[in-house]
Amino acid sequence: MTAWNRMQITSKVPGDRKTSEGTVRFIGVAVRPTLLFMAAFALNVTPHEAAHAITSHMLGFSSTLYQMWVNPDVATATSRQAIAIAIAGPVLSLAVGLISWLLYRQRFSRRRSGLLFLMLAINGFYLFLGPVAAATLGGDFNVALRFAGASKLLMNVISASGLLMLPAMMYFMGKELSSWAPTWFSRTKVVFCTTVGPWLIGTILITLIYLPLPSFLIAPNFLGSVFWIFAVIGAIVADRTILAPRPVCSLTRVDFMVTAAAFLMVRLLVHGVRLAH
Ligand SMILES: [Zn+2]
Repeated sequence: MTAWNRMQITSKVPGDRKTSEGTVRFIGVAVRPTLLFMAAFALNVTPHEAAHAITSHMLGFSSTLYQMWVNPDVATATSRQAIAIAIAGPVLSLAVGLISWLLYRQRFSRRRSGLLFLMLAINGFYLFLGPVAAATLGGDFNVALRFAGASKLLMNVISASGLLMLPAMMYFMGKELSSWAPTWFSRTKVVFCTTVGPWLIGTILITLIYLPLPSFLIAPNFLGSVFWIFAVIGAIVADRTILAPRPVCSLTRVDFMVTAAAFLMVRLLVHGVRLAH
């Protein structure tokens, strides 16, 4: 333990920590990033799939939208239509990421709801850069590039750019996430509360919320989250001597309402919603 950490712990622990109310608040503060990660995951993944489904519907094809995938009837689609349907999901994710990030930076980084906007931005960028990184293997951009007749070299170059940008983004976001931990948390608690918890516990719990899932989606969902390791590294190396003025708080009523709405949206789609012509 560094002198800095020791000073933080001894000088800034709130006096109510020993009471049961203090314990509840401590737990609320500690689990808030994980809960908001789960809400932000659902608010990105399911609308991403809806973007594929709505685009295919607008182009004249029926589809069935599920909570984490979509089955469009696109056997007769032209290359251009197939490309539009494939890129609609990641384009929406990028838009959600950019808008959430701008709102976070401009308005909410010093408000309690800021952590939700930060998680929305991370998940939005992740659902765009993930398919970029996977372009040579599979996924949305792989489908679009194959229909566009792209060369293997171009696919590899796009994948390589994604493999550079995704870790860099997560490293930066890990530093940003760590600023949302209370100043009286030790470095270990900061890293677990803001990055390891959302990544490992959050991914397991949100997968349970999404069940039933086809088996071909479960493993990629866990493996695909591996770039969160760079957020963990970012949180480990973040300079906590420059403390950002974050309103660290326990779970709020808005947190519960947003999370409940996100989970309800997921559960309403588990049997599929048919967008028919
Ligand atoms: Zn997609």
